[in-house]
Amino acid sequence: METFDQLWVWQDAALAQSLGWYRDVASNRKPAKFRIAGTIPVAVALDDAPEDALWRELDRLTALFLERLRCIRDDGEALGSAPAGASLLDLCCELARRMLTHCNFCRWDCRVDRSAGGKLGACKLASDTRVSTYFHHHGEELVYRGLRGSGTIFFTSCNMRCAFCQNGDISTDKDNGTVTDARTLATMAWLLRMEGCHNVNWVGGEVTIHLHTIVEAIALLGGGLGGGLGRPTRDDLTKALPVKSDYLPLSDVRLDSGAYQGEFNAPMLWNSNFYMSDEAMKILRFLMDVWLPDLKFGPGRCAVTLSRTPRYWETVTEYLALIHDWGEDFTIRHLVMPNHVECCTYPILDWIAEHMPGAPVNIMDQYHPDNFCDPCNPKYQDRYEQLARRPTSGELDAGFRRARELGLKFETITYEKHAR
Ligand code: SF4
Repeated sequence: METFDQLWVWQDAALAQSLGWYRDVASNRKPAKFRIAGTIPVAVALDDAPEDALWRELDRLTALFLERLRCIRDDGEALGSAPAGASLLDLCCELARRMLTHCNFCRWDCRVDRSAGGKLGACKLASDTRVSTYFHHHGEELVYRGLRGSGTIFFTSCNMRCAFCQNGDISTDKDNGTVTDARTLATMAWLLRMEGCHNVNWVGGEVTIHLHTIVEAIALLGGGLGGGLGRPTRDDLTKALPVKSDYLPLSDVRLDSGAYQGEFNAPMLWNSNFYMSDEAMKILRFLMDVWLPDLKFGPGRCAVTLSRTPRYWETVTEYLALIHDWGEDFTIRHLVMPNHVECCTYPILDWIAEHMPGAPVNIMDQYHPDNFCDPCNPKYQDRYEQLARRPTSGELDAGFRRARELGLKFETITYEKHAR
């Protein structure tokens, strides 16, 4: 029987190279980055140290982490064991918790104390995290959906306001879904992986705004926070299972599906609009094995007029350049929109060609009018008339042609659903 590792898509040597680490972790040949972070000891008292001391410690440990990652990835070095005291995973948790009290998870930089619950930021959230649903996603790119699906967890609310949002029920209704604590979230991820999913796909709405709960869940999966999740209890499953939207018998859970040296293992996938902050990026560098950023709008005013999001272009391109400079595994998504080829699609493809010509790109053709752009929806607003139709074949072809002329690596990922 064909395995994830034998998918035809890996015959594309450039794609296989771009996603080499992710593929190794998905196949349990390597430990995920959060497992490596769990072996690195911290030299400050997490409860007592001021936040700037914690950031200095994070910066110090970055070099150690990267060297350990290199040794494990390139030299086949053993993972090592968890320290007696706090690890880099615990430090990431503590920093995310501190950030929540003056929220700077994303570029809005609201600085509100979300832990107090009184004043909310642009994402409309306090400290609670809500999960709308989670399931084996068979609609993602083949490198992510594989044979058993991408283990996708959908979070509620967003820090952008795209008028055409195709997940509008999740992103615009902050009260959608179920309040989920970190332990239940870890149980959801554990379940998806042990049922055979190839990754844990953190997505929304937007994920960045839930940073504190996600980091804590990953720490629990990695044995942090005083022992970690281990194997979920009946109580954990009782909380997690009602939120799941696909039913698989518990007999489908196989403990060797996601294990490295006998402990939980899964590639972590950050599926995000990338409207983030420097600090969030610093933390996620230790936890994400592969990144899936959207690049939606060009450098003009489209992000403001269609999504009420200032400083979009400089923010998202800055963080894309960062993961590229860091040598991370990633693929970029760009959704072609009607009447936005000249102002968005072309400058985006040009920017990728100039700054990261080898990056795998999915040029997506599935835009359809939704939310405020859908004439059949009571929420429809005339000012979005330009987005009230699907892109024409001429618009789509123009995008593909430009990418081809620029020599971008887009064809395998973009066309794979029609390839076989
Ligand atoms: S996540 Fe972003 S939008 Fe929400 S409060 Fe924090 S900085 Fe503001």
